[in-house]
Amino acid sequence: MPVLVMKFGGTSVATLDRIRRAAKRVGVEVAKGYDVIVIVSAMAGKTNELVGWVNETSPLYDAREYDAVVSSGENVTAGLMALTLQEMDVPARSWQGWQVPLKTTSQHASARITEIPPDNINAKFAEGMRVAVVAGFQGISDEGRITTLGRGGSDTTAVAFAAAFDAERCDIYTDVDGVYTTDPRICEKARKLDKIAFEEMLELASLGAKVLQTRSVELALRYNVKLRVVSSFEEQSDEAGTLVCDEEEIMELNVVSGVAYSRDEAKMTLISVADRPGIAAAIFGPLSEAGVNVDMIVQNISEEGRTDMTFSCPTDQVARAEKAMIDAKSSGDINFHDIVADTNVAKVSVVGIGMRSHAGVAAKMFQVLSDEGINIKVITTSEIKISVLIDRKYMELAVQALHDAFELEKATV
Ligand code: ADP
Ligand code: ASP
Ligand code: MG
Repeated sequence: MPVLVMKFGGTSVATLDRIRRAAKRVGVEVAKGYDVIVIVSAMAGKTNELVGWVNETSPLYDAREYDAVVSSGENVTAGLMALTLQEMDVPARSWQGWQVPLKTTSQHASARITEIPPDNINAKFAEGMRVAVVAGFQGISDEGRITTLGRGGSDTTAVAFAAAFDAERCDIYTDVDGVYTTDPRICEKARKLDKIAFEEMLELASLGAKVLQTRSVELALRYNVKLRVVSSFEEQSDEAGTLVCDEEEIMELNVVSGVAYSRDEAKMTLISVADRPGIAAAIFGPLSEAGVNVDMIVQNISEEGRTDMTFSCPTDQVARAEKAMIDAKSSGDINFHDIVADTNVAKVSVVGIGMRSHAGVAAKMFQVLSDEGINIKVITTSEIKISVLIDRKYMELAVQALHDAFELEKATV
C-alpha cells in the first residue's frame, strides 16, 4: 500500500482533545488506503519545560543526559496517539526512536540521522498494522545512547521517514495553514504562499522561521520528498497549505520573498585582542570545540595592534562561549581585556532568490531601518539573503517595516 507521512507538531497534540482530532485526520487517510507513519512532537510547552529543568540542574550540562531528559516528551504523545487510534479501531502501534531504530550520529542535542532501516515497521504493516506512530526528535547513537535532533527536530524525523519509506508525501501539520512571507503572528499583512522554493525555505528556516527545521528542508531536497505544510485546525484538501518545491515550479517570483527573524541570538564581543595572524583561528577554534555555533562575525579596525572581535551565537550557548574564551585566555592562547555578552539583540533577515539578479536590496533594507530609527549592530549577506543584528525591542517593527517596504503582501507574477 502507498505510504503517507503525517507529522503533528506540539500545538496539534497539546491536549487529549487535539490528539483525538489529529487521530481522526489520520483515520481519513487510512480509509483512503494509505499505510500511515505518524510522527509526533511533545505536547506544546513540554520540551521547553524539560530543557528548563536541565538548565536549572546543570548549566553546563552533559549533553547525553540532556537528550535523555528532553526526548521524553515525545514518548508520551506517541503512546497516547497509538491508544487514541486503537480506540477508533485503527490498528496502530507506537515506536520510540531506538525501537525503529532511527540511527544517528553521536552529536548529542544536534544529532544527524544516519539510517532508518524500514524492516521492523514494514513487518508490522505486513501483519495488518495500518499506522506506525513514531516519537519525533529522537534517535539512538552507535554507543546505544538516546540522541535528539535539535529543536524542531520532529520535522526532520518526518522527512527522513518519508525518504526511507518512499512515501507519497510528507505532510507537516502545524498551527498555521502554511508558509507565509513572514511569521503571521507578528505581521498581520503576512501572505500565505502556495509554493515556496527549497532554497528560499532553507534560508528562511535557517534564519529563524521555525515553521520547518532547516535539516528537514535539506533532506526533502536531497531525497526528493514531496513536502507540504498544512494546518491541523482547518479542514484539508490535498491542495491546501504550502508545497515546498523546485524553483522551476514557481510562477511568481519576487525579488524578496520573505522576512525571517530570530530572537535566539546573543552578541558577544572580545574587547582588545591582539590583531595578529592566527587570531581568528585561536578564537573560533576553541568556540567550535566547545560546541558554540557562531553565526555572524565582525572584526573591528585595529588600533595600535589591538582590535575588538564581535560574533553572534544562540543565547543558550553564551555560558559555554564565555567559558571557552576564559579557558583559552588562561592557557595563553589568546589575550583580551574583557568579554561582553549582549543578549538583547535579534536577527532580522530578508530572503529572495531574485536578489541574485537584482541590486539594491541591501541599500533599501538599510534605508528602511534607518527611517525607523533602528541602529544596525552587525550585517551579513549571502547571494540570496541579508541579515542584520538589531536591538530586540525593535524586532517586530523591523519585520513589519521591511514587509511593507518590499510589498510582500502583494503577489507579483
Ligand atoms: P510545531 O509545533 O507545529 O512544530 P512551530 O511552532 O515549530 O510548530 O512552527 C510553527 C510556527 O512557526 C508558527 O506558529 C509561526 O508563528 C512560526 N513561523 C515563523 N515564520 C513563519 C513563516 N514564514 N510562515 C509560517 N509560520 C511561521
Ligand atoms: N519537541 C521538540 C521541540 O520542541 C521537537 C519538535 O517539536 O519538533 O523542539
Ligand atoms: Mg516545529
